[in-house]
Amino acid sequence: MPAVLVPDRLTRHVAAGHPWLYADAVPALAGARTGEIVTLLGQGRRPIGSALFDAESPIALRVLGTGRDEPAGPALWRRRLETAWLLRQSTLDLTTTDAFRLLHGEGDRMPGVVVDMYAGCAVLKLDTAAWLPHLAELTAAVVEVVRPRSIYFKGLSGQRGGAEVPPAQRPRVLHGAEPAPLIEIREYGMKLQVDVRRGQKTGLFLDQRDNRRLVRQVARGREVLNLFSYNGGFSVAAALGGATRVTSVDLARAAVDAARDNFAVNGLDPAAHAFVAADAFDDLARREQAGESFDLVVCDPPSFAPNQKAVRAAQSAYTKLNAQALRRVRPGGLFAAASCSSHVSMDMFLQTLRESSRVARRPLRVLEVRSEPPDHPTPLHFPEGRYLKFVLTVAE
Ligand code: SAH
Repeated sequence: MPAVLVPDRLTRHVAAGHPWLYADAVPALAGARTGEIVTLLGQGRRPIGSALFDAESPIALRVLGTGRDEPAGPALWRRRLETAWLLRQSTLDLTTTDAFRLLHGEGDRMPGVVVDMYAGCAVLKLDTAAWLPHLAELTAAVVEVVRPRSIYFKGLSGQRGGAEVPPAQRPRVLHGAEPAPLIEIREYGMKLQVDVRRGQKTGLFLDQRDNRRLVRQVARGREVLNLFSYNGGFSVAAALGGATRVTSVDLARAAVDAARDNFAVNGLDPAAHAFVAADAFDDLARREQAGESFDLVVCDPPSFAPNQKAVRAAQSAYTKLNAQALRRVRPGGLFAAASCSSHVSMDMFLQTLRESSRVARRPLRVLEVRSEPPDHPTPLHFPEGRYLKFVLTVAE
């Protein structure tokens, strides 16, 4: 097994639970191949753990275990999954919710592996090709621990479909039956149809579950605008919570159609609500022209900062978008702003909201500040992993 000497200043980070070692921070691993398991050596060349090697990524090594763990391999994957499953069983309400993240990569000490459960169907997604040689072992571990109806491999994150994708990286069924074209899941009793094959991420933005419930709780009697609505999670939640009329806006036609269907699935009449396939920025500008306003506006855009360099631009984009969205909120109405850019911290995001509030001349009071739910754990020593911001405010 190849080995690498971890610089002294990084060994305590590894011991504390930081899951990554960057290529430029460790000696080059001559001859090691992507997917190989590497022994991490500390002072005096004493083994301190093991890591998965990726020759193509700036994250050269993903830490699999430290001295206290058994060696990396099938038994460790199985134990990690068992631990993750027990945590979900003891921290989620699985009587009303059957869609959840079973394994959250770094947060469950399986860096780069995500497994989401949709009504008994597991969807597996990888951040790195380094896991591909271990895919059969991962599949066996998921089968043993949760006995899913099927396991669907969604491919590598950031990957675009097409002929150039190598066969090993292509989406496919890894175990059991083909997943249904639409899987109906329950989230705190709300139903949602999920298209795991063609949907974004693994099919649903599971990380907003508790925030959808919060929106449901505060929506009574309100006229709602949901920007970047995807398949209508916040919209259906608002309507079930007693919103008088919900307008859902998303650029993706398929997402807007799915949102409409999700109203019907919950016994809500889609004709009483509005579904708009449009660019949210254009849509907001049109509503500004028309002088429209709402009692609750939800704004949950895609990530604006794909990397550290884009952070400045992302901050000004959030400021502008949220100021524009905030102007559509009636006095005394609610405004919920979200961000999923991991490079934008909670403090930075709150600062952009202060700026939006100042620009829009609408003082805000904060009702709730939230980040990931319990099925998205993050090591305390890995603040990079805390990507979700959701801030519910009331506007003057
Ligand atoms: N709030 C959703 C998740 C939103 S993800 C939920 O809880 O499920 C971001 C969404 O923004 C995606 O559905 C994507 O299709 C959409 N999107 C991306 N760019 C957009 C744009 N310029 N205008 C409108 N929607 C956009």
